[in-house]
Order: sequence, then C-alpha cells, then structure tokens
Amino acid sequence: MIDIKSLTYEELKSELTALSLPKFRADQVYKWLHRFGVSSFDEMTDISKSLRNLLSEKYFIPHCTIEDKYVSAIDGTVKYLFKLFDGEYIESVIMKYKYGYTICISSQVGCKMGCKFCASTLAGFKRNLLPAEMESQIHAAQKDLNIRISHIVLMGIGEPLDNYDNLISFLRTVNNDAGLNISMRDITISTCGIVPKIYDLMNENLPITLTLSLHAPNDRLRSSMMPVNDKYSVDEAICACRDYAEKTSRRVSFEYTLINGVNDTVECANELASKLKGFICHVNLIPVNDVEERGNVRSTQTSVINFLETLKSKGINATIRRTLGKDINASCGQLRRKKNEGDSSENCCKDR
Ligand code: SAH
Repeated sequence: MIDIKSLTYEELKSELTALSLPKFRADQVYKWLHRFGVSSFDEMTDISKSLRNLLSEKYFIPHCTIEDKYVSAIDGTVKYLFKLFDGEYIESVIMKYKYGYTICISSQVGCKMGCKFCASTLAGFKRNLLPAEMESQIHAAQKDLNIRISHIVLMGIGEPLDNYDNLISFLRTVNNDAGLNISMRDITISTCGIVPKIYDLMNENLPITLTLSLHAPNDRLRSSMMPVNDKYSVDEAICACRDYAEKTSRRVSFEYTLINGVNDTVECANELASKLKGFICHVNLIPVNDVEERGNVRSTQTSVINFLETLKSKGINATIRRTLGKDINASCGQLRRKKNEGDSSENCCKDR
C-alpha cells in the first residue's frame, strides 16, 4: 500500500495518470487529502464508489486518531495524544493567541537526541513521522475544534532536522494553496542544533523561522545537558544561526530553559550575552517543566528576573515565555511515555 497523502501534487498526478484517470481527478483527490484532511476515501463524495474502491485497494491515508484529549481550564490550551496507523502515539498542543491558533506538532515518534531535561527521549525513539502524519495532526485538531490553524511550531516530540526530507515535503505541502495554505512565515522550526541540517534548511531558501534550543552558553555546560553538543559546539551552532538569519532575513530565536543551580546564574547570562553580541535575535527564557524522572528544579522567580535583566542590560532582546496549559502538562513527551508504560492516571481535566 502506498501512502497517498505524502505524495507531492506532481507525484499524485503521475500516479493517477498511470491509472488512466484524467488530470482533474488528481486535483479533486489532492484537495480532499490536504484542504479537507479526510481520513478515508469514502469521504471523497464527488468521486464514484468504484473509483474510491480502486483507490483504497492501492493506497492508504495515514491519519491521527484522538486517543486522549486534555483541555486547560486556565487558558483553553488543548493537548492531544494521537494514535497512528501502527499503534504508536504522538502529541500535539493547540494554543490560542491574539492572532489566531498555533499548533505545536511532533516530527518523530520519540527522539534520539537524549537531552537530559526532556521527556520525549525517555520512552525511546521508534520512527520518523511521514509527511502525512505531520500534516494530519493539524487536520485532526482543526476538525475536532472546528477552527482554522494559522501558525505551526515544530516543538513537539522529536527533532525535526533529524527527519529532514519528510520535514521539507511537509512544509511544501502545508504551504500549497490547494491544501492548508499556511504561510512559511508562520512556521517555526525548533532544533537542538544539527548544524549541517541548519545549512541545508538555509539553502532551501524558505522564509521559515528558526529557533535553536541553546540552554547553555558554553560547551562544558551544554554538553552535560545535551549530547548533540559533543558533535556540534555552541559556537558552531550560533554561527549557523547567524548565517541562517543573514541569508533568509528571518530573525532567529534561542530557547533557554532555566534549571535551578545548573544554567541560571548571572555568570551564565553574561556569557550568553557576549556570545550573542551584535546578533539581532531573540532569547526565550523558559522555566524548566518538571519531568518526574528528570529531577530538574525550576529556577526561582528572582533568578529568572536577574537572568532576564542581565541579558537586557547587555542589549540582548529577551522575554520570559508565558506558560500555557500549565494544568494539562502541555509540554510534549509526557503523555506518550505514560501511555507506553500503561499508566493513564492523569489528574488534569481529561476531555475524553
Ligand atoms: N528537538 C527540537 C524540538 C522539540 S523540543 C529541539 O530540541 O528544539 C521543544 C523545546 O522544548 C526545546 O527547546 C526543548 O529543549 C524544550 N524542552 C524540552 N524539555 C523541556 C522541559 N522539561 N522544560 C522546558 N523546556 C523543555
């Protein structure tokens, strides 16, 4: 069976032409798959039953089934645990901002990167997501909530640049005006810093916003938190971001998760400021989310403010990330892990 939803428009056209179907069929099927996000051929109501049967013998449509859904009583943030066709689980989060709805999607089932503070790595890496599975998270959420999602961030489970080809295919598809028609400018890719892939992305010449998960200002500290740093150093990663910003004219952001007594001192802030000197960028400070097994403790409010003020005093643009969905464990990786361990006892407001 061929995954019909991950085909590009051109590929779909040649597939259907090979079945002796006229060109307009490809247009119809493409729209059903990508604009309306159907999960079965039977939903393609302007296509004859016999043709739908023919298609379903040769192709399948990967989609996301809602396994669990949590709605924040505080701010309406919604978190989904989706089940995939092979029984694997991924997570997505929908957040409402003034400008519309943003979805945070997963790019892999699990993650290989091994960041010490992160939940996504704990349940192990299983496989890459297909382009269709990245897109289907948006379709499933839109349909369930009856909304239009306008912004995408790739900050869910997985390392997007470790699933590069599928990521690029997904980006081109969601940008297609016959499909979801989401502007590249409204898409953010977050990476732990796979430097050669940052350059590959730069050379695609897409106006995508890039975010680097930096979390430490020097190699000693960063390597103790993020194994990827043994391969690509702090300086190499920042340099790649500078090149990316210059070539694409998009502002780059840095994520900096503050962990009490680990990376939240004023010395760290000063060192970070000197590394970013002269770079028109943005630093997002995020008090670490507790992940039971990780044992990391959030920085105190005073340390967070001191860190922020130190950066600002050195001319670095920085803000503290507003926490959405506090009551539903909205940071990714935790639901999948619990599901895999057979523990479904969540104490937040489960909607299903
Ligand atoms: N692999 C990508 C994207 C997924 S993680 C990346 O590394 O950027 C999305 C963001 O959440 C990253 O900045 C990651 O470092 C951060 N993160 C992971 N675990 C966290 C935790 N427990 N508390 C706060 N931020 C966390």
